[in-house]
Amino acid sequence: MSYPQLSLYIDGQFLHGDGRKEQDVLNPATNQVIGKLPHATRDDLDLALKSAARAFETWKKTSPLERSKVLRKVAELARERANDIGRNITLDQGKPLAEAVGEVNFCAEHAEWHAEEARRIYGRVIPARQDGVRQLVLREPIGVCAAFSPWNFPFNQAIRKITAALGAGCTIVIKGPEDAPSAVVALARLFHDAGLPAGCLNVVWGVPHEVSDYLIKSPIVRKISFTGSVPVGKLLAGLAGSLMKRCTMELGGHAPVIVCDDADVETAADMLVGFKFRNAGQVCISPTRFYVQEGAYDKFVARFIAKTEKIKVGDGLEASTRMGPLAQARRVAAIGSFIEDAHQRGATVLTGGKSLGGEGNFYAPTVIADLPEDAKLMTEEPFGPVAGIARFKTLDEVLLRANSLPFGLAAYAFTTGTKNANAISNGLQAGMVSINHFGMALAETPFGGIKDSGYGSEGGLETFDGYLNTKYVTQLN
Ligand code: NAD
Repeated sequence: MSYPQLSLYIDGQFLHGDGRKEQDVLNPATNQVIGKLPHATRDDLDLALKSAARAFETWKKTSPLERSKVLRKVAELARERANDIGRNITLDQGKPLAEAVGEVNFCAEHAEWHAEEARRIYGRVIPARQDGVRQLVLREPIGVCAAFSPWNFPFNQAIRKITAALGAGCTIVIKGPEDAPSAVVALARLFHDAGLPAGCLNVVWGVPHEVSDYLIKSPIVRKISFTGSVPVGKLLAGLAGSLMKRCTMELGGHAPVIVCDDADVETAADMLVGFKFRNAGQVCISPTRFYVQEGAYDKFVARFIAKTEKIKVGDGLEASTRMGPLAQARRVAAIGSFIEDAHQRGATVLTGGKSLGGEGNFYAPTVIADLPEDAKLMTEEPFGPVAGIARFKTLDEVLLRANSLPFGLAAYAFTTGTKNANAISNGLQAGMVSINHFGMALAETPFGGIKDSGYGSEGGLETFDGYLNTKYVTQLN
């Protein structure tokens, strides 16, 4: 199975091994080596930083209309190449081909949306207190950005950061996920072919903490964007904070789902199975803690399990596969630790609960009930194909339980009552709340969390706030 040659992309050049340290890239469906990923040397990182700084001096002055043209071209090329890019995502990340191709097509919209909105980054005029004084608020690009994107949606997470930075007039050095690198190399090729000037986008690879430490500490870098786990996010935000650098932090979650007695229970169960096991549950907004009201509990659980057991697990390249392998062998061990804790606490594994063996990282879609509130699954983000289900009696009680964790990324509810829906959307501590459907992660809507789940947005108009400085100018004529 052919897999593309991987490279760094620095100052407009694709750079390959050439004596650099290289890392094996594995197919999670087979654990066979499919590619070699070159790590950036110190000189490579310095060149990436220098070229991003040089390119910023020109790019920041490029008209929004010109920036917009490049971004539009990227969207067009992404759609043309979606099948190839998607296939390579399936090879190195594992998700089913339809999900991978869908990720590329859907996320081409980020390039389009930023192309449009980059033309509407307006300042304002504030009426002055004195005749002859003009008071202006200007929005200026922040400068060179350092971004770190994860492996679960390798195309999506990287294109959000790159298009926001470039749309705002910034330049960027991005370290993609070494585990699933093909999508970010493909992105570099898309921008290169769309005519982005050299240095505006640079792609580097390496040992994550070494690269992030070096880039964040560089005086050239003015802004950090990270998507990943809470502990790593806190580390990077701490370092950036000590150097007074702006951050967007999109971190982990542990999304509660509240299913009320008055919900359309069967529809809720069907929708939730699809959403829960998408990308094998390796999704920061994946529903993970299911709270079902007593009157709906038995019906919901029966339907949820029946649907879950129908999910075909296999190699993502096979047309019948609905859930691929976990992205790395370490994720199989991580999920195992949640199941072990559940067993120790006397919980009931309703379905799944085991790895499926073979050469790949396959794990059975798993549903667990009767978990004590302090079980690992109800308190730590599983980031895998596991759902924990619990009962609740009243809305007040379930809101307290849903809000009891330090996370606050996504939350969901199913109810037909407006009063319930209002109480839930007002009462849940989360950056995103979706009721009776899954309406998140669109280019035009904010995407981000509160509490330990981070700050800043990776979507919607709010994104640009992270990439722009505000300058106030007052002038007496
Ligand atoms: P991890 O914490 O080791 O890594 C998470 C991500 O951060 C990876 O992409 C990794 O390359 C990167 N990373 C790790 N240390 C870094 C550093 N010092 N500097 C820069 N980047 C660094 O965990 P993992 O096993 O790869 O992933 C599982 C956990 O990561 C999950 O529990 C989940 O919370 C989190 N995660 C979240 C998202 C998200 O969309 N928010 C995406 C991927 C992973």
